Amino acid sequence: MSTDYGNYIDGDWTESASGDTFTVHNPANKNEIVATYQQSASDDANRAVEAAVAAQDEWAATPAPERGRILKRTADALDARKDELTETLTTEEGKTLAEAGGEVQRAIDIFDYYAEKTRDLGGTMKAASAANKQLYTKREPLGTVSLITPWNYPIAIPAWKLAPALAAGNTVVLKPASAAPGVSLKLVKCLEEAGLPAGVVNYVTGSGSDVGGPLTEHGAVDAVSFTGSTAIGTMVAQTATEDLKRVQCEMGGKNPTVVMPSADLDEAVDIVGSGAFGVTGQACTACSRAIVHEDVYDEFVAGIVDYAESLEIGDGTADVDMGPHVTGSELEGTLEYVDIGLEDGATLETGGDRLTGAEYDDGYFVEPTVFSDVRADMRIAQEEVFGPVLAVISVSDFEEAVAVANDVEFGLSASIVTDDLSEGHQFIEDVEAGVAKVNEKTTGLELHVPFGGYKGSSTNTYREQGDAGLDFFSSIKTAYLNY
Ligand code: NAP
Repeated sequence: MSTDYGNYIDGDWTESASGDTFTVHNPANKNEIVATYQQSASDDANRAVEAAVAAQDEWAATPAPERGRILKRTADALDARKDELTETLTTEEGKTLAEAGGEVQRAIDIFDYYAEKTRDLGGTMKAASAANKQLYTKREPLGTVSLITPWNYPIAIPAWKLAPALAAGNTVVLKPASAAPGVSLKLVKCLEEAGLPAGVVNYVTGSGSDVGGPLTEHGAVDAVSFTGSTAIGTMVAQTATEDLKRVQCEMGGKNPTVVMPSADLDEAVDIVGSGAFGVTGQACTACSRAIVHEDVYDEFVAGIVDYAESLEIGDGTADVDMGPHVTGSELEGTLEYVDIGLEDGATLETGGDRLTGAEYDDGYFVEPTVFSDVRADMRIAQEEVFGPVLAVISVSDFEEAVAVANDVEFGLSASIVTDDLSEGHQFIEDVEAGVAKVNEKTTGLELHVPFGGYKGSSTNTYREQGDAGLDFFSSIKTAYLNY
Protein backbone atom coordinates (compact mmCIF):
# COMPACT_ATOMS: atom_id res chain seq x y z
CA MET A 1 0.00 0.00 0.00
CA SER A 2 1.38 3.41 -0.90
CA THR A 3 1.59 6.40 1.42
CA ASP A 4 0.94 10.08 0.69
CA TYR A 5 3.67 12.46 1.79
CA GLY A 6 3.70 16.24 2.10
CA ASN A 7 6.25 18.99 1.79
CA TYR A 8 7.77 20.16 5.07
CA ILE A 9 7.64 23.95 5.26
CA ASP A 10 8.03 26.04 8.43
CA GLY A 11 7.51 22.99 10.63
CA ASP A 12 4.31 21.80 8.93
CA TRP A 13 3.68 18.90 6.55
CA THR A 14 1.67 20.51 3.76
CA GLU A 15 0.28 19.92 0.29
CA SER A 16 1.66 21.71 -2.76
CA ALA A 17 -0.17 24.95 -3.60
CA SER A 18 -1.63 23.31 -6.71
CA GLY A 19 -2.61 20.13 -4.87
CA ASP A 20 -0.83 18.14 -7.60
CA THR A 21 1.08 14.97 -6.68
CA PHE A 22 3.29 12.36 -8.32
CA THR A 23 3.93 8.70 -7.58
CA VAL A 24 7.12 6.69 -7.19
CA HIS A 25 7.17 3.05 -8.29
CA ASN A 26 9.29 0.14 -7.13
CA PRO A 27 12.03 -0.34 -9.79
CA ALA A 28 11.97 -4.09 -9.14
CA ASN A 29 8.21 -4.13 -9.85
CA LYS A 30 6.89 -1.12 -11.71
CA ASN A 31 3.28 -2.07 -10.89
CA GLU A 32 3.88 -1.35 -7.22
CA ILE A 33 3.38 2.30 -6.22
CA VAL A 34 5.63 2.93 -3.22
CA ALA A 35 4.47 6.41 -2.28
CA THR A 36 2.88 9.65 -3.48
CA TYR A 37 4.66 13.01 -3.15
CA GLN A 38 3.80 16.67 -3.72
CA GLN A 39 4.30 17.96 -7.27
CA SER A 40 5.42 21.38 -6.11
CA ALA A 41 6.19 24.49 -8.15
CA SER A 42 7.82 27.87 -7.68
CA ASP A 43 5.29 29.22 -5.12
CA ASP A 44 6.03 26.22 -2.86
CA ALA A 45 9.78 26.64 -3.33
CA ASN A 46 9.54 30.37 -2.60
CA ARG A 47 7.47 29.76 0.55
CA ALA A 48 10.11 27.29 1.75
CA VAL A 49 12.87 29.85 1.17
CA GLU A 50 10.89 32.50 3.09
CA ALA A 51 10.45 30.09 6.03
CA ALA A 52 14.17 29.32 6.02
CA VAL A 53 15.07 33.03 5.92
CA ALA A 54 12.69 33.77 8.83
CA ALA A 55 14.28 31.02 10.96
CA GLN A 56 17.86 32.05 10.17
CA ASP A 57 18.76 34.56 12.92
CA GLU A 58 17.56 32.39 15.77
CA TRP A 59 19.26 29.26 14.45
CA ALA A 60 22.52 31.13 13.88
CA ALA A 61 22.30 32.48 17.44
CA THR A 62 21.74 29.00 18.92
CA PRO A 63 25.03 27.95 20.55
CA ALA A 64 26.82 25.51 18.26
CA PRO A 65 26.95 22.67 20.84
CA GLU A 66 23.16 22.97 21.20
CA ARG A 67 22.86 22.62 17.41
CA GLY A 68 25.14 19.61 17.79
CA ARG A 69 22.83 18.02 20.37
CA ILE A 70 20.00 18.17 17.81
CA LEU A 71 22.25 16.57 15.16
CA LYS A 72 23.19 13.83 17.65
CA ARG A 73 19.51 13.16 18.43
CA THR A 74 18.91 13.00 14.66
CA ALA A 75 21.62 10.34 14.34
CA ASP A 76 19.94 8.39 17.15
CA ALA A 77 16.50 8.72 15.50
CA LEU A 78 17.96 7.47 12.19
CA ASP A 79 19.57 4.56 14.02
CA ALA A 80 16.28 3.64 15.66
CA ARG A 81 14.58 3.56 12.25
CA LYS A 82 17.47 1.99 10.36
CA ASP A 83 15.56 -1.06 9.08
CA GLU A 84 12.60 1.02 7.90
CA LEU A 85 14.88 3.52 6.11
CA THR A 86 16.85 0.71 4.49
CA GLU A 87 13.70 -0.86 3.12
CA THR A 88 12.39 2.49 1.86
CA LEU A 89 15.67 3.07 0.06
CA THR A 90 15.64 -0.35 -1.62
CA THR A 91 11.99 -0.20 -2.67
CA GLU A 92 12.41 3.27 -4.24
CA GLU A 93 15.96 3.23 -5.61
CA GLY A 94 16.52 -0.49 -6.17
CA LYS A 95 19.92 -1.13 -4.59
CA THR A 96 20.22 -4.28 -2.46
CA LEU A 97 19.32 -4.23 1.23
CA ALA A 98 23.02 -4.69 2.09
CA GLU A 99 23.96 -1.66 -0.02
CA ALA A 100 21.02 0.38 1.30
CA GLY A 101 21.82 -0.54 4.92
CA GLY A 102 25.40 0.62 4.40
CA GLU A 103 24.16 3.91 3.01
CA VAL A 104 21.76 4.51 5.91
CA GLN A 105 24.60 3.76 8.34
CA ARG A 106 26.68 6.35 6.49
CA ALA A 107 23.96 8.96 7.10
CA ILE A 108 23.91 8.07 10.81
CA ASP A 109 27.71 8.39 11.00
CA ILE A 110 27.65 11.73 9.18
CA PHE A 111 25.18 13.21 11.68
CA ASP A 112 27.27 11.84 14.56
CA TYR A 113 30.44 13.30 13.04
CA TYR A 114 29.09 16.83 12.51
CA ALA A 115 27.38 16.75 15.94
CA GLU A 116 30.87 16.36 17.41
CA LYS A 117 32.26 19.04 15.09
CA THR A 118 29.95 21.68 16.58
CA ARG A 119 32.19 21.73 19.67
CA ASP A 120 35.14 22.67 17.49
CA LEU A 121 34.04 24.84 14.58
CA GLY A 122 37.54 26.21 14.16
CA GLY A 123 38.81 29.78 14.15
CA THR A 124 42.40 30.83 14.76
CA MET A 125 44.21 33.35 16.96
CA LYS A 126 47.20 34.96 15.20
CA ALA A 127 50.02 37.16 16.52
CA ALA A 128 49.10 40.84 16.03
CA SER A 129 51.57 43.46 14.82
CA ALA A 130 51.01 45.76 17.82
CA ALA A 131 50.68 45.49 21.60
CA ASN A 132 47.20 45.45 23.12
CA LYS A 133 45.71 44.01 19.99
CA GLN A 134 44.09 40.68 19.15
CA LEU A 135 43.86 39.25 15.67
CA TYR A 136 41.64 36.23 15.16
CA THR A 137 39.25 34.52 12.77
CA LYS A 138 35.84 33.05 13.40
CA ARG A 139 33.42 30.99 11.38
CA GLU A 140 29.94 32.38 10.64
CA PRO A 141 26.97 30.84 8.80
CA LEU A 142 26.25 31.93 5.24
CA GLY A 143 22.49 32.27 5.85
CA THR A 144 19.95 30.27 3.84
CA VAL A 145 21.15 27.52 1.52
CA SER A 146 19.48 25.40 -1.18
CA LEU A 147 20.45 21.74 -1.40
CA ILE A 148 19.60 19.84 -4.59
CA THR A 149 20.38 16.12 -4.56
CA PRO A 150 20.36 13.09 -6.91
CA TRP A 151 18.55 9.76 -6.58
CA ASN A 152 21.51 7.40 -6.52
CA TYR A 153 22.57 8.02 -2.89
CA PRO A 154 19.22 9.36 -1.74
CA ILE A 155 20.08 9.59 1.98
CA ALA A 156 23.88 9.79 2.15
CA ILE A 157 24.12 12.85 -0.09
CA PRO A 158 21.30 14.83 1.60
CA ALA A 159 22.98 13.90 4.92
CA TRP A 160 26.44 15.05 3.88
CA LYS A 161 25.02 18.42 2.83
CA LEU A 162 22.42 18.90 5.62
CA ALA A 163 24.60 18.02 8.60
CA PRO A 164 27.46 20.48 7.93
CA ALA A 165 25.00 23.17 6.77
CA LEU A 166 23.11 22.91 10.08
CA ALA A 167 26.23 22.52 12.21
CA ALA A 168 27.55 25.79 10.77
CA GLY A 169 24.27 27.58 11.61
CA ASN A 170 22.54 27.82 8.23
CA THR A 171 18.88 27.25 7.46
CA VAL A 172 18.06 24.99 4.55
CA VAL A 173 15.67 24.14 1.74
CA LEU A 174 16.22 20.59 0.47
CA LYS A 175 14.93 19.38 -2.89
CA PRO A 176 15.49 15.64 -3.33
CA ALA A 177 15.51 13.84 -6.69
CA SER A 178 12.03 12.86 -7.85
CA ALA A 179 12.95 9.22 -8.50
CA ALA A 180 13.59 8.41 -4.82
CA PRO A 181 12.49 11.07 -2.32
CA GLY A 182 11.24 8.76 0.46
CA VAL A 183 14.36 8.12 2.46
CA SER A 184 15.37 11.80 2.65
CA LEU A 185 11.80 12.63 3.68
CA LYS A 186 12.22 10.20 6.57
CA LEU A 187 15.51 11.89 7.42
CA VAL A 188 13.60 15.18 7.69
CA LYS A 189 11.10 13.43 9.99
CA CYS A 190 14.06 12.39 12.18
CA LEU A 191 15.27 16.02 12.31
CA GLU A 192 11.76 17.05 13.36
CA GLU A 193 11.69 14.29 16.02
CA ALA A 194 15.08 15.48 17.26
CA GLY A 195 13.60 18.90 18.08
CA LEU A 196 14.84 20.99 15.15
CA PRO A 197 13.00 24.35 15.32
CA ALA A 198 10.39 25.10 12.64
CA GLY A 199 11.76 26.63 9.45
CA VAL A 200 15.37 25.52 9.95
CA VAL A 201 14.99 22.68 7.43
CA ASN A 202 12.35 22.83 4.71
CA TYR A 203 11.74 20.00 2.27
CA VAL A 204 10.03 20.40 -1.10
CA THR A 205 9.44 17.68 -3.68
CA GLY A 206 8.72 18.26 -7.36
CA SER A 207 10.46 18.43 -10.69
CA GLY A 208 13.93 19.82 -11.16
CA SER A 209 12.89 22.72 -13.34
CA ASP A 210 9.81 23.68 -11.25
CA VAL A 211 11.44 23.47 -7.80
CA GLY A 212 15.21 23.23 -8.34
CA GLY A 213 15.17 26.21 -10.71
CA PRO A 214 13.50 28.63 -8.25
CA LEU A 215 15.76 27.39 -5.42
CA THR A 216 18.78 28.21 -7.57
CA GLU A 217 17.52 31.66 -8.60
CA HIS A 218 15.88 33.00 -5.42
CA GLY A 219 17.49 36.28 -4.32
CA ALA A 220 17.35 35.39 -0.60
CA VAL A 221 19.30 32.16 -1.07
CA ASP A 222 22.97 32.64 -0.14
CA ALA A 223 24.41 29.40 -1.50
CA VAL A 224 23.51 26.39 -3.60
CA SER A 225 24.97 22.95 -3.07
CA PHE A 226 24.08 20.62 -5.96
CA THR A 227 24.97 17.01 -6.75
CA GLY A 228 23.84 15.45 -10.01
CA SER A 229 24.66 15.30 -13.70
CA THR A 230 27.21 17.55 -15.35
CA ALA A 231 24.56 18.90 -17.78
CA ILE A 232 22.21 20.11 -15.00
CA GLY A 233 25.01 21.10 -12.64
CA THR A 234 26.56 23.38 -15.24
CA MET A 235 23.21 25.15 -15.65
CA VAL A 236 22.73 25.42 -11.89
CA ALA A 237 26.20 26.93 -11.47
CA GLN A 238 25.59 29.50 -14.21
CA THR A 239 22.25 30.58 -12.74
CA ALA A 240 23.39 30.63 -9.12
CA THR A 241 26.45 32.74 -9.79
CA GLU A 242 24.48 35.42 -11.66
CA ASP A 243 23.84 37.19 -8.36
CA LEU A 244 27.09 35.91 -6.81
CA LYS A 245 25.68 33.10 -4.68
CA ARG A 246 28.29 30.68 -3.38
CA VAL A 247 27.94 27.51 -5.42
CA GLN A 248 29.21 23.96 -5.28
CA CYS A 249 28.26 21.42 -7.95
CA GLU A 250 29.51 17.84 -7.75
CA MET A 251 28.74 16.02 -11.00
CA GLY A 252 29.44 13.05 -13.24
CA GLY A 253 32.42 10.72 -13.57
CA LYS A 254 34.16 8.29 -15.94
CA ASN A 255 36.33 6.61 -13.38
CA PRO A 256 39.26 4.39 -14.37
CA THR A 257 41.03 1.54 -12.61
CA VAL A 258 44.48 0.80 -14.01
CA VAL A 259 45.66 -2.81 -13.72
CA MET A 260 49.43 -3.35 -13.90
CA PRO A 261 51.25 -6.67 -14.49
CA SER A 262 52.56 -6.79 -10.90
CA ALA A 263 48.98 -6.83 -9.54
CA ASP A 264 47.43 -9.91 -7.98
CA LEU A 265 44.90 -10.49 -10.77
CA ASP A 266 42.22 -12.04 -8.55
CA GLU A 267 42.40 -8.95 -6.37
CA ALA A 268 42.32 -6.70 -9.45
CA VAL A 269 39.19 -8.46 -10.74
CA ASP A 270 37.47 -8.04 -7.35
CA ILE A 271 38.43 -4.36 -7.17
CA VAL A 272 37.23 -3.60 -10.71
CA GLY A 273 34.15 -5.83 -10.51
CA SER A 274 32.86 -4.43 -7.23
CA GLY A 275 33.60 -0.88 -8.40
CA ALA A 276 31.84 -1.40 -11.74
CA PHE A 277 28.79 -3.47 -10.80
CA GLY A 278 28.16 -2.47 -7.15
CA VAL A 279 24.97 -0.38 -6.76
CA THR A 280 24.14 -1.46 -10.34
CA GLY A 281 26.91 0.81 -11.62
CA GLN A 282 24.82 3.80 -10.54
CA ALA A 283 27.55 5.57 -8.58
CA CYS A 284 29.28 8.78 -9.60
CA THR A 285 32.50 7.04 -8.56
CA ALA A 286 31.71 3.71 -10.27
CA CYS A 287 34.57 2.18 -12.25
CA SER A 288 33.56 2.33 -15.90
CA ARG A 289 36.99 1.90 -17.49
CA ALA A 290 39.50 -0.86 -16.73
CA ILE A 291 42.80 0.23 -18.25
CA VAL A 292 44.82 -2.98 -18.36
CA HIS A 293 48.46 -3.67 -19.22
CA GLU A 294 48.70 -5.81 -22.37
CA ASP A 295 50.73 -8.51 -20.56
CA VAL A 296 47.74 -9.40 -18.35
CA TYR A 297 44.91 -8.19 -20.60
CA ASP A 298 43.50 -11.55 -21.76
CA GLU A 299 43.68 -13.07 -18.30
CA PHE A 300 42.00 -10.01 -16.79
CA VAL A 301 39.18 -10.04 -19.37
CA ALA A 302 38.51 -13.74 -18.66
CA GLY A 303 38.44 -13.02 -14.92
CA ILE A 304 36.12 -10.02 -15.10
CA VAL A 305 33.72 -11.86 -17.42
CA ASP A 306 33.52 -14.69 -14.84
CA TYR A 307 32.94 -12.11 -12.12
CA ALA A 308 30.09 -10.44 -14.06
CA GLU A 309 28.47 -13.76 -14.92
CA SER A 310 28.61 -14.93 -11.29
CA LEU A 311 26.46 -12.04 -10.02
CA GLU A 312 22.94 -12.84 -8.96
CA ILE A 313 20.51 -10.18 -10.08
CA GLY A 314 17.04 -9.54 -8.74
CA ASP A 315 14.79 -7.56 -6.43
CA GLY A 316 17.07 -5.82 -3.92
CA THR A 317 14.94 -7.06 -1.02
CA ALA A 318 15.93 -10.67 -1.90
CA ASP A 319 19.38 -12.11 -1.26
CA VAL A 320 20.99 -10.88 -4.51
CA ASP A 321 24.22 -9.18 -5.59
CA MET A 322 22.76 -6.53 -7.89
CA GLY A 323 19.37 -4.80 -8.03
CA PRO A 324 17.58 -3.09 -10.93
CA HIS A 325 18.10 0.29 -12.53
CA VAL A 326 16.15 3.01 -10.76
CA THR A 327 13.81 3.89 -13.65
CA GLY A 328 12.89 2.76 -17.14
CA SER A 329 14.69 5.73 -18.66
CA GLU A 330 17.94 4.89 -16.84
CA LEU A 331 17.63 1.30 -18.13
CA GLU A 332 17.04 2.62 -21.67
CA GLY A 333 20.12 4.84 -21.30
CA THR A 334 22.31 1.84 -20.47
CA LEU A 335 20.91 -0.24 -23.35
CA GLU A 336 21.56 2.66 -25.75
CA TYR A 337 25.20 2.70 -24.69
CA VAL A 338 25.43 -1.05 -25.35
CA ASP A 339 24.30 -0.34 -28.94
CA ILE A 340 26.77 2.54 -29.22
CA GLY A 341 29.61 0.28 -28.02
CA LEU A 342 28.72 -2.33 -30.63
CA GLU A 343 28.41 0.26 -33.42
CA ASP A 344 31.81 1.70 -32.50
CA GLY A 345 33.41 -1.75 -32.86
CA ALA A 346 33.99 -2.86 -29.26
CA THR A 347 33.63 -6.59 -28.45
CA LEU A 348 30.70 -7.48 -26.20
CA GLU A 349 32.19 -10.14 -23.90
CA THR A 350 29.15 -10.65 -21.71
CA GLY A 351 25.82 -9.03 -20.81
CA GLY A 352 24.27 -6.20 -22.74
CA ASP A 353 20.63 -7.27 -22.49
CA ARG A 354 17.62 -6.44 -20.41
CA LEU A 355 16.75 -9.41 -18.21
CA THR A 356 13.44 -11.07 -18.98
CA GLY A 357 11.36 -13.86 -17.46
CA ALA A 358 8.98 -14.16 -14.55
CA GLU A 359 10.88 -12.30 -11.84
CA TYR A 360 12.32 -9.68 -14.22
CA ASP A 361 9.55 -8.63 -16.60
CA ASP A 362 8.08 -5.93 -14.35
CA GLY A 363 11.41 -4.46 -13.26
CA TYR A 364 14.30 -2.53 -14.81
CA PHE A 365 16.91 -5.30 -14.72
CA VAL A 366 19.95 -5.37 -16.96
CA GLU A 367 22.85 -7.80 -17.24
CA PRO A 368 26.27 -6.71 -15.97
CA THR A 369 28.11 -5.91 -19.18
CA VAL A 370 31.77 -6.12 -20.20
CA PHE A 371 33.20 -4.72 -23.44
CA SER A 372 36.76 -5.53 -24.52
CA ASP A 373 38.80 -4.15 -27.44
CA VAL A 374 37.68 -0.68 -26.42
CA ARG A 375 39.64 2.24 -27.83
CA ALA A 376 40.11 5.22 -25.55
CA ASP A 377 38.30 7.52 -27.98
CA MET A 378 35.11 5.42 -28.23
CA ARG A 379 31.99 6.93 -26.69
CA ILE A 380 31.69 4.11 -24.12
CA ALA A 381 35.20 5.08 -22.97
CA GLN A 382 34.47 8.80 -22.87
CA GLU A 383 30.87 9.37 -21.70
CA GLU A 384 29.24 8.58 -18.37
CA VAL A 385 27.01 5.50 -18.85
CA PHE A 386 25.61 5.32 -15.28
CA GLY A 387 24.88 1.61 -15.40
CA PRO A 388 26.75 -1.69 -14.96
CA VAL A 389 28.84 -1.40 -18.13
CA LEU A 390 32.61 -1.81 -18.06
CA ALA A 391 34.92 -0.83 -20.94
CA VAL A 392 38.27 -2.68 -20.90
CA ILE A 393 41.12 -0.87 -22.66
CA SER A 394 44.58 -2.33 -23.37
CA VAL A 395 47.74 -0.23 -22.79
CA SER A 396 51.41 -1.04 -23.16
CA ASP A 397 52.97 0.79 -20.19
CA PHE A 398 52.33 2.93 -17.10
CA GLU A 399 52.70 6.23 -18.97
CA GLU A 400 50.10 5.22 -21.54
CA ALA A 401 47.79 4.01 -18.76
CA VAL A 402 47.91 7.40 -17.04
CA ALA A 403 47.46 9.26 -20.35
CA VAL A 404 44.34 7.19 -21.12
CA ALA A 405 43.04 7.61 -17.55
CA ASN A 406 43.32 11.39 -17.94
CA ASP A 407 41.97 11.60 -21.49
CA VAL A 408 38.32 12.27 -20.53
CA GLU A 409 36.34 15.37 -19.59
CA PHE A 410 35.74 14.02 -16.06
CA GLY A 411 38.06 13.65 -13.06
CA LEU A 412 36.23 12.28 -10.04
CA SER A 413 37.82 9.06 -8.73
CA ALA A 414 40.65 6.90 -10.10
CA SER A 415 42.52 3.87 -8.88
CA ILE A 416 45.45 1.62 -9.75
CA VAL A 417 46.10 -2.01 -8.81
CA THR A 418 49.81 -2.68 -8.55
CA ASP A 419 52.37 -4.38 -6.34
CA ASP A 420 54.87 -1.62 -7.09
CA LEU A 421 54.63 1.13 -4.48
CA SER A 422 56.57 3.63 -6.62
CA GLU A 423 54.01 3.16 -9.38
CA GLY A 424 51.25 3.74 -6.82
CA HIS A 425 52.84 6.99 -5.63
CA GLN A 426 53.43 8.15 -9.20
CA PHE A 427 49.79 7.42 -10.09
CA ILE A 428 48.60 9.61 -7.22
CA GLU A 429 50.90 12.38 -8.52
CA ASP A 430 49.87 12.12 -12.18
CA VAL A 431 46.20 11.25 -12.28
CA GLU A 432 43.72 14.09 -12.82
CA ALA A 433 41.06 13.16 -10.27
CA GLY A 434 39.82 14.51 -6.96
CA VAL A 435 40.15 11.05 -5.38
CA ALA A 436 43.18 8.85 -6.21
CA LYS A 437 43.43 5.34 -4.77
CA VAL A 438 45.99 2.54 -4.78
CA ASN A 439 44.78 -1.07 -4.51
CA GLU A 440 41.22 0.00 -3.77
CA LYS A 441 38.03 0.31 -5.80
CA THR A 442 37.01 3.72 -7.15
CA THR A 443 33.81 3.69 -5.07
CA GLY A 444 33.72 4.00 -1.29
CA LEU A 445 34.62 7.12 0.66
CA GLU A 446 35.63 7.99 4.20
CA LEU A 447 33.36 10.68 5.60
CA HIS A 448 36.00 12.80 7.37
CA VAL A 449 38.20 13.63 4.36
CA PRO A 450 37.39 15.97 1.47
CA PHE A 451 35.46 14.62 -1.52
CA GLY A 452 35.01 16.24 -4.91
CA GLY A 453 36.07 16.10 -8.53
CA TYR A 454 38.44 17.74 -10.97
CA LYS A 455 37.59 18.96 -14.50
CA GLY A 456 33.98 18.34 -15.66
CA SER A 457 33.15 16.43 -12.47
CA SER A 458 32.94 19.51 -10.28
CA THR A 459 32.80 23.28 -10.15
CA ASN A 460 35.94 22.73 -8.09
CA THR A 461 34.97 25.55 -5.77
CA TYR A 462 34.76 23.75 -2.44
CA ARG A 463 35.02 20.09 -1.43
CA GLU A 464 32.34 18.18 0.51
CA GLN A 465 32.61 16.15 3.74
CA GLY A 466 35.07 16.47 6.61
CA ASP A 467 36.19 20.02 7.47
CA ALA A 468 35.66 20.95 3.81
CA GLY A 469 31.90 20.50 4.34
CA LEU A 470 31.97 23.20 7.03
CA ASP A 471 34.12 25.45 4.83
CA PHE A 472 31.48 25.55 2.09
CA PHE A 473 28.69 26.36 4.52
CA SER A 474 30.44 29.17 6.41
CA SER A 475 32.19 32.49 5.98
CA ILE A 476 35.40 33.36 7.74
CA LYS A 477 35.38 36.69 9.56
CA THR A 478 38.72 38.25 10.56
CA ALA A 479 38.63 40.28 13.78
CA TYR A 480 41.10 43.08 14.71
CA LEU A 481 40.52 43.95 18.37
CA ASN A 482 42.45 46.81 19.97
CA TYR A 483 42.09 47.16 23.74
P1 NAP B 1 20.25 15.07 -12.35
O1 NAP B 1 19.27 14.65 -13.35
O2 NAP B 1 21.25 16.10 -12.72
O3 NAP B 1 19.39 15.57 -11.09
C1 NAP B 1 19.99 15.99 -9.87
C2 NAP B 1 19.02 16.88 -9.12
O4 NAP B 1 18.83 18.09 -9.86
C3 NAP B 1 17.62 16.27 -8.96
O5 NAP B 1 17.10 16.64 -7.71
C4 NAP B 1 16.85 16.93 -10.10
O6 NAP B 1 15.45 16.95 -9.89
C5 NAP B 1 17.45 18.32 -10.04
N1 NAP B 1 17.23 19.12 -11.26
C6 NAP B 1 16.87 18.69 -12.49
N2 NAP B 1 16.75 19.75 -13.33
C7 NAP B 1 17.03 20.85 -12.61
C8 NAP B 1 17.08 22.25 -12.90
N3 NAP B 1 16.80 22.72 -14.12
N4 NAP B 1 17.42 23.11 -11.92
C9 NAP B 1 17.73 22.66 -10.68
N5 NAP B 1 17.68 21.35 -10.33
C10 NAP B 1 17.35 20.46 -11.28
O7 NAP B 1 21.07 13.82 -11.77
P2 NAP B 1 20.51 12.42 -11.28
O8 NAP B 1 20.06 11.65 -12.48
O9 NAP B 1 19.56 12.62 -10.15
O10 NAP B 1 21.82 11.75 -10.66
C11 NAP B 1 22.77 11.07 -11.41
C12 NAP B 1 23.95 11.97 -11.72
O11 NAP B 1 24.48 12.48 -10.50
C13 NAP B 1 25.10 11.24 -12.39
O12 NAP B 1 25.63 12.05 -13.40
C14 NAP B 1 26.12 11.06 -11.26
O13 NAP B 1 27.45 10.94 -11.67
C15 NAP B 1 25.90 12.32 -10.48
N6 NAP B 1 26.37 12.18 -9.10
C16 NAP B 1 27.49 12.85 -8.72
C17 NAP B 1 27.99 12.69 -7.43
C18 NAP B 1 29.24 13.41 -6.99
O14 NAP B 1 29.45 13.55 -5.79
N7 NAP B 1 30.07 13.86 -7.92
C19 NAP B 1 27.33 11.86 -6.52
C20 NAP B 1 26.18 11.20 -6.94
C21 NAP B 1 25.70 11.38 -8.23
P3 NAP B 1 14.51 15.81 -10.52
O15 NAP B 1 14.94 14.53 -9.91
O16 NAP B 1 13.16 16.24 -10.11
O17 NAP B 1 14.74 15.85 -12.00
